[in-house]
Amino acid sequence: MGTWHNGAAAVVTLTFDVDAETPVLAEGRRYADNLMTMSHQSYGPDVGVPRILDLLEDMNVPATFFIPGWVAEHRPGLADSIVQRGHEVAHHSYSHRSPTSMTADEERADFERAVEVFSSQRIEIAGHRAASWGASWQTPSLVAEYGLIYDSSLMGDDRPYEIATNLTPIVELPVHWSLDDWEQYAFLPDPHIGSVIESPVKVTEMWRAELDGMRRYQCLFNLCMHPFLSGRPGRIMALRTFIEETLEAGDVHFARCRDLAQAVRDDASISPRRLVRPPVPPDVYPL
Ligand code: ZN
Repeated sequence: MGTWHNGAAAVVTLTFDVDAETPVLAEGRRYADNLMTMSHQSYGPDVGVPRILDLLEDMNVPATFFIPGWVAEHRPGLADSIVQRGHEVAHHSYSHRSPTSMTADEERADFERAVEVFSSQRIEIAGHRAASWGASWQTPSLVAEYGLIYDSSLMGDDRPYEIATNLTPIVELPVHWSLDDWEQYAFLPDPHIGSVIESPVKVTEMWRAELDGMRRYQCLFNLCMHPFLSGRPGRIMALRTFIEETLEAGDVHFARCRDLAQAVRDDASISPRRLVRPPVPPDVYPL
C-alpha cells in the first residue's frame, strides 16, 4: 500500500503562479492604462517563465504552473509550452479575483470560464488554486464538480489532506504565507500589492529552515512563486542554489502537484475531513 510521501523525508512541490497582469487588473481595469505597471507584470510570462523552464530543465525537477484563464487566453501557446516541457498546468481562476470578493454565482462563472479556456486549448487540468488563496466555503465543491482532484489554497495542515465535498472528496495540498515569494519580493506603489524587496539570501535561508523542519516531520514543502517576482536574476540564482542543496540532501522527493495528489488519493491512511464553518452568533461577534 502506497504512502503519499513514498518514504521521502519531505515532498517538495515547486509551484509558479503565472498571474501576469491579473492581480493588478483585479484591483481595477483602469490600471490597464498604466504602461509601467503592465510591463512590470508582463515580465512574468515574457521573461520569468522561459528562464524558470530552463532552470527546471537544468535541475531535472518537475513543477506546477497555476495560470489564470485570462492569462492563458491572451497568451495562446503559453500553457502548452509549459506542458511540452513536462510540467503541469493547473487552474488559477479566470480573472484572479478572489472568491471571497465575489458572490457564489460569480465565483462559479469565473471558475467555469477558466475550465473552458483550458479545454479549448486542449490543456488537461487536474487541480486548482484560488486567486490570492481566497477560497470560499463552496470552492472545494466546485473543484470536485468540475472533475478536478485537488486544490492548493488552504492552510489547515503542513501535510496533504483530503476534504469531503457534496460529491467526491478532493485532495488539499496546503500552502502557507512563509512559503510564498510574494511576501518577500512584491513591491508596487499603485495598486499597492506589496512593499517589500528582501534579500534572496535571506529568503532562501528562511525556506531552508522550514524545509529542514519539514524533513524532520515528513511534511509537504509547497513553495509558491511568481515568475514576475522570482524570475528576476538574483532571485532565480538563489532559487537554483536552493534546489541544488535540496537535491544534495538526497532524502527529498520533488513532484508535480497532480502526481502528489494521486498518491494522496492512493494512500489508504488518509480519510476526508469535513470542513465546517465556525458558528458566529450575531450577539457574540459584530459583522
Ligand atoms: Zn495568483
